[in-house]
Amino acid sequence: MSDVQLLPAVREFLASPKRLFIGGQWQDAAKGRHFAVENPATAQTICQVADGDEADVDAAVAAARAAFEGPWRWETPARRGYLLFRLAELIDAHAEELAQLITLENGKPIANARGEAASAANIIRYFAGWPTKIEGSTVPVSPASGAPMLNYTLREPVGVCALIVPWNFPLTMCVWKLGPALATGCTAVLKPAEQTPLVAVRLVQLIEQAGFPAGVVNLLTGFGMRTGAPLAAHADVDKIAFTGSTQVGRLIAQAATGNMKKVSLELGGKSPNIILPDADIARAAKGAADGIFYNQGQVCTAASRLYVHEKVLDQVLDELRRHAAAHVIGSGLNSSTTLGPLVSERQLGMVSGYLQRGVEEGAELICGGKRPEHLEHGHFIEPSVFLDRAERACVAREEIFGPVLTVMSWSDVDELAQRANDSPYGLAAGLWTNDLRAAHRLAAQLKAGSVWINCWNVVDPASPFGGYKQSGWGREMSKHVIDAYTETKSVFVDLA
Ligand code: ADP
Repeated sequence: MSDVQLLPAVREFLASPKRLFIGGQWQDAAKGRHFAVENPATAQTICQVADGDEADVDAAVAAARAAFEGPWRWETPARRGYLLFRLAELIDAHAEELAQLITLENGKPIANARGEAASAANIIRYFAGWPTKIEGSTVPVSPASGAPMLNYTLREPVGVCALIVPWNFPLTMCVWKLGPALATGCTAVLKPAEQTPLVAVRLVQLIEQAGFPAGVVNLLTGFGMRTGAPLAAHADVDKIAFTGSTQVGRLIAQAATGNMKKVSLELGGKSPNIILPDADIARAAKGAADGIFYNQGQVCTAASRLYVHEKVLDQVLDELRRHAAAHVIGSGLNSSTTLGPLVSERQLGMVSGYLQRGVEEGAELICGGKRPEHLEHGHFIEPSVFLDRAERACVAREEIFGPVLTVMSWSDVDELAQRANDSPYGLAAGLWTNDLRAAHRLAAQLKAGSVWINCWNVVDPASPFGGYKQSGWGREMSKHVIDAYTETKSVFVDLA
């Protein structure tokens, strides 16, 4: 059941061919192949999309190189900013279309997809402000000869960037990477996930409409092995920015060594969320539930390990049961839905496997654990909560990427940070308390790129985002990402 009517523009887009975009031309894949995009709420095919391979990768990288070495390299910063502002306006003007495409191919509730489209425009707007503010410096050097010497630094774009993105936030992930690439004067080859290419195609149409020169942004739809892998290994790509699984991140890092391309990686997580006994328990439990169930748990920062002080454990479990039961599971195109399907049958299989293993390994299932009976088609799963006092089951330790929370209890605050940090990941962590001292002490102790106090999943383009340990390399957004897309050149001038 769905009450959201697809816009005529969306119907038109779905009926039109969805090709690769290389050097300013929309074109079929070199081998003429296509693949089907599925609606995860119905398991039905939505439409076909061009399926690129190595020959298309070569063409797209060559086009990006030509644009980089051509006039784009010398375009004024003000012009780059202007084009990005135009793109932000176009994203706003087409926000409902983009949101509907996100829900169609990813499954998420339309309200969340609308939020994603609105935030995409804001992220591009943030980066539109950067080109005119990327400055070098003059450096007070002290040559041994004592000769007068001028030294200054130039910040230059790193070059051709391969941007490989996942399916969980199909639009946000594109703009997190395109924003800094275009702001710094790089050129890009964008490879969306095979599950969610549609919104990327529409975004690149808007990029073309905004007036970016041919070859500055190229789009390759296709699969990981056939399109992503040759792109990651390509000798003429200067930088690769990847978001996805730690497993694929490792392959990308290895592939990048051929020409020592710069690499930034945003990978998995198993993020600890801590409730202290003094917290506002109702608010903390709601935050904990939202932190894991948002986007069907398919979030790298999902709050998947919850550490609750034993004094408030029963109360928190009751609240979690209540929040899980309150979810309306269904098609994202139904405006009352709060929990959509998982993205694919494969994802459903993986999450179901964890639910089964969690029970087998001794974790206690508090609620959920099965597919909802009233939804026959589509990749739906109930929001689920485990209690694992021993903290040894796979559901307490491994990233699940589904709406599955594992709760542990604690009593000794001195052990707490150590338990929370006992994970190969370090993407995010959170705590709920009104105790200022405990909050800041724990924030300093937790090994995570983001720490959220009395909130979860707050991200902002002005603030850095990224992971410690196996959650990644480098930071996205903020001034830190500008560094990742620029080289710093040091120029010495002998003034003697
Ligand atoms: P998931 O397992 O959640 O689908 P992945 O990490 O496999 O996430 O995928 C994220 C992105 O990486 C997608 O665009 C996918 O096509 C791409 N990808 C997958 N395998 C490779 C690979 N070996 N090399 C480059 N890109 C890949």
